[in-house]
Amino acid sequence: MVKFNSNEKKLIDYARKKILQYCKMRKSKGLNDIIYSFVLSDSGKIYDGASIICNLRQAGYCAERHAIGNMLLAESEKAKIVSLFVAGPVQRKSAKAITPCGICRILIDEFSTPKSTVICSEFIRNEKNWTVFPRIDKYNAKELYPHPYVAPKWD
Ligand SMILES: [Zn+2]
Repeated sequence: MVKFNSNEKKLIDYARKKILQYCKMRKSKGLNDIIYSFVLSDSGKIYDGASIICNLRQAGYCAERHAIGNMLLAESEKAKIVSLFVAGPVQRKSAKAITPCGICRILIDEFSTPKSTVICSEFIRNEKNWTVFPRIDKYNAKELYPHPYVAPKWD
């Protein structure tokens, strides 16, 4: 059983409420569920993000970067991620919840501390409602990206 600290519990509770709200809104417009991400910054504020869906697929981007971008806009690059939550829609409970892609891991690493965590989950659309977070996995941010990219330096 994965254990969560009070910050992570706060983030998970917030995510549960907001994902249901966003899912209901999208369903009312006849749209499918998408991936959501929420970032708790060291200021104590939480920022929302969703995967950006558009006609030119490569112009879209991930929920995690959307949420981190909102944090950076509001608080600058001095902000640090305490915990990042990501959850995607699935048909049934999986053996392992989705984890951030490589590009997102680079950005998470840049704005995290050695203590930052990444919480990964999923949700299922039922006929009338959603089953939220049937499984939740937790990682240390560094564990997901142990050998970060460092730009080469020239004299
Ligand atoms: Zn990504």
